[in-house]
Amino acid sequence: MSRKPIHPFINKLAEAIRAEYDLDAPMWFPVTPDKMDIEILKSESNTYSEHDPLQLRLNSWIGLKNGHNLLAGYQCEYGKLICILEDMDQTNEIPLELWGRILRLFREKNRTTDFYRIFFIASTSKREMPMVGHPFSPSNINGGYTYPCNKDSIVIYRAEDATRVLLHELFHAACCDNPELSLDEKEAETEAWAEFFYCGFISRGTPYILRDLVQRQSQYMSKQNALIKEHLGKKKVEEHSFPWRYTIGKQEVWERWGIFDDNSSVGPIIIVGNSLRLTFPQSNYVKRREQVATTSTML
Ligand SMILES: [Zn+2]
Repeated sequence: MSRKPIHPFINKLAEAIRAEYDLDAPMWFPVTPDKMDIEILKSESNTYSEHDPLQLRLNSWIGLKNGHNLLAGYQCEYGKLICILEDMDQTNEIPLELWGRILRLFREKNRTTDFYRIFFIASTSKREMPMVGHPFSPSNINGGYTYPCNKDSIVIYRAEDATRVLLHELFHAACCDNPELSLDEKEAETEAWAEFFYCGFISRGTPYILRDLVQRQSQYMSKQNALIKEHLGKKKVEEHSFPWRYTIGKQEVWERWGIFDDNSSVGPIIIVGNSLRLTFPQSNYVKRREQVATTSTML
């Protein structure tokens, strides 16, 4: 049975990712976070944000102060990672090689500040659907933020789906936002890019594998969005109301690009359940390949 030709976007992304995988992986080494790192970490953790109503950052900071959590630091040529971890096991759950490659792809050549500083607060609080009758809020879905065109403080405050959040925030930090769009449209587009690149990195740049992963991600988002619409019930999915940008809105962007394809029955059955994780969970095979413990949700 013949299949549709591979979409040009997919070929293009596969080519860029393949070029990255032709290079040796960036080398990471452990570092002790310096005074400035700790100052920013403290200030970010203690600043109220409407995106973090569960106060995951503050609770992790308090955990660090009273000795329940651990501080860790890693550095490579393209960036620095300052982490608050809940336990030692999490040191084996961070896909460092992959993150180093992601940072290298987002570097801006010929810039003096070609270096990212990432605060990774690895709270294990999961993204879940709200209880029946309760509205969606950032507590159900958000997990990071950054400042546009600023490489100096990307904040990720959930362990789950952290790779996808890193990609999302890098688009903002690397100044890729389209200024013509409204905030909601901008976020939907950024999320659409992040999930596309996520599939790209998992494929390691093989076009037909990327096409299958894009199908798998399409199926996952389609199923999840159906559950979100069901949760909203009779209440009309209001144009651009929360969490439109991260769910239905980003699917619309994939549809507009022509890469959305949820028709295939390739691969095992997708189970979304109660989860609001935005990318399909990875198999143990991929986790082993990325050298993380199979308990890791950070991939
Ligand atoms: Zn964003």
